[in-house]
Amino acid sequence: MTTQLQASVPATPRGKSGTMIANVFRGVDRFGIEEVARPHARAGEAVIRVTLTTICGTDLHIVRGEYPVQPGLIIGHEPVGVIAELGDGVTGYQVGDRVLVGAITPCGQCHACLAGHAAQCGHGSGYEAIGGWRMGNTIHGAQAEYVVIPYAQANLAKIPDDLSDEQVVLLADIASTGFGGAESGGIRIGDTVVVYAQGPIGLCASLGARLMGAAKVIGVDGDDHRLAMARRMGVDTVLDYRHQDVVAEVKRLTGGGADVAIEALGTQATFENALRSLRPGGTLSSLGVYSGKLQMPYEAFAAGLGDHRVVTTLCPGGKERMRRLMEMVRSGRVDLTPLLTHHFTLDKIRDAYRLFSERADGVIKVAIRPA
Ligand SMILES: [Zn+2]
Ligand SMILES: [Zn+2]
Repeated sequence: MTTQLQASVPATPRGKSGTMIANVFRGVDRFGIEEVARPHARAGEAVIRVTLTTICGTDLHIVRGEYPVQPGLIIGHEPVGVIAELGDGVTGYQVGDRVLVGAITPCGQCHACLAGHAAQCGHGSGYEAIGGWRMGNTIHGAQAEYVVIPYAQANLAKIPDDLSDEQVVLLADIASTGFGGAESGGIRIGDTVVVYAQGPIGLCASLGARLMGAAKVIGVDGDDHRLAMARRMGVDTVLDYRHQDVVAEVKRLTGGGADVAIEALGTQATFENALRSLRPGGTLSSLGVYSGKLQMPYEAFAAGLGDHRVVTTLCPGGKERMRRLMEMVRSGRVDLTPLLTHHFTLDKIRDAYRLFSERADGVIKVAIRPA
């Protein structure tokens, strides 16, 4: 029998059971498509055949050498796909199920996960800062034909049949992150909210602010395409920092300062402007990834006596988060497809990186489809 089975297995074409193509990081600005071994699922894991993925701003930090990962790593952390293999112990799924996996893949069992901080997952024990981000960071990622999903039981979110890959792919990271910034900001019905930067995450934070019940959402950027997209996505007032004193304008529009300011870029200037835009007692919800030292000018937060709150958020992940976000799409509350401005096949991913990195041609997010 064994001999027969082996004989019946066809020669291994690329991507079937032998090798696959993937975007491999080799060093600063050295990355691209390589043929590598196709992964297999060990106990507790799943392998999904990727049908759609994208490039994140964090991936740009990686290829520019601004966020360290090991050379040889396959990057990318936003997979939509079909289950190709299930490891031992993963129950309730079938090979062939369509699934969405969040950028953050928590274990579901450690202190952090069980206490509601899955992004800071301690991998089975306590807490680890950023510990929930594994794909394309500490393990191989999703810009590939196949990707291993760790802790599959906690992370495979089945996609309802009535949702397309394009409708859900941006939930994996930018929507979860952007909405998370609005949630962490504790926005209440009737609040005024300003969102600094209207890139992919900032646009989603603005959407999140609306969903949380903000009466007025103000979006700040200095890029015509992004300001136009902000308007299209329902931002009430857009401010262009190239042409106006945005802090003064936020104070004027809000009658003295916003209830919540969301920082979605990760620079000293945007952090500081967000802080200066707040009313006393307001909340600065920070989503940006900072490098180097971040300074808090004392007068901008009333020397520490202004009852301000500063909160930070890493993308909430796990299958329940993804299920909830998919329900928001299903009910028509959210449509992120306008943000997928460009499409590439996986073998052309370097072209996609160049476009995304240069912010050329009005790009917001790129859809990457393994052929
Ligand atoms: Zn990301
Ligand atoms: Zn955990």
